[in-house]
Amino acid sequence: MQQRSIKRKIRCSGAGLHSGQDVGLVFRPAAENSGIIFHVKGAHGVRTLRPGPELVFCTSLATTLGLQEGARVSTVEHMMAAVRGLGIDNMHIDVEGCEIPIMDGSAAVFVRLLGEAGLRVQGAQRRVARIRESVRFEREGKYINAEPYDGFFVDCSISFPHPSIGAQRFCLDLTPETFPEVANARTFGFLRDVEALQKRGLALGGNLGNAVVLDEKGVLNPEGLRRPDEFVRHKILDFIGDMAMFPLPLRGKFRLHCTGHGLNNEFLRHLSARPDLWARESEGYPQRETPRLYPPPLPRAAAACAG
Ligand SMILES: [Zn+2]
Repeated sequence: MQQRSIKRKIRCSGAGLHSGQDVGLVFRPAAENSGIIFHVKGAHGVRTLRPGPELVFCTSLATTLGLQEGARVSTVEHMMAAVRGLGIDNMHIDVEGCEIPIMDGSAAVFVRLLGEAGLRVQGAQRRVARIRESVRFEREGKYINAEPYDGFFVDCSISFPHPSIGAQRFCLDLTPETFPEVANARTFGFLRDVEALQKRGLALGGNLGNAVVLDEKGVLNPEGLRRPDEFVRHKILDFIGDMAMFPLPLRGKFRLHCTGHGLNNEFLRHLSARPDLWARESEGYPQRETPRLYPPPLPRAAAACAG
């Protein structure tokens, strides 16, 4: 499998979730073996950042990449899910501000933009980090289990004691062809949490146009859900985006239960600290048959997620 970049530069802008201010974003082609490179423009000038588990700050809202004191960029996960979902290895991302626009709360706009930019197949073989031993990573009933697999397979379950959510499960064998199954699933939150955040000056750009918002009884968005299991699909989207903080695309089968940005990043840091659990390899052509995608039966007894 060869590396990919985009064919041409493309620009967009949109409101940031934290600030509510307009943020500009430019995607530019990059040479093979460059990886994904952020150029963050702020008061300090332009700083360059490369994804890495140790450069991630997790908040309850989003994944932030950057330095404690210095350049940082928030809400990278949905855009990075689009980058991985489309199989882009090399790209420059110019950010004029300190966060990625929230768009509609999913990866759909980024997929459309990158599709408009066009994908270019490059000469060099794709380098991946392949899980080579089973890993069980658990925190307070939430877990990520990883095992070797020729691809990126996610089996995710969630359980929220809420009439619109309940127990949901979805599996995805990620390829550019299957990615649309999760790409337009929106982020979700509870009205009480959104109000509390906005009182603290956070999530100022959060509204019904860029998130599914729930009160005690149901979904407040007048258009309703895009799919009944939009919640679990979004958890998979977040996982894809958060795993893109590893320097190389990961390859493995991942079983997730009630994961969030914090757990996802702890898992990546664990992999970074244990290089014996994975191998750096060139990606061969996939040997498996048609990609598998199915909503499997719900788990019998899933522990309730805390939130
Ligand atoms: Zn998300």
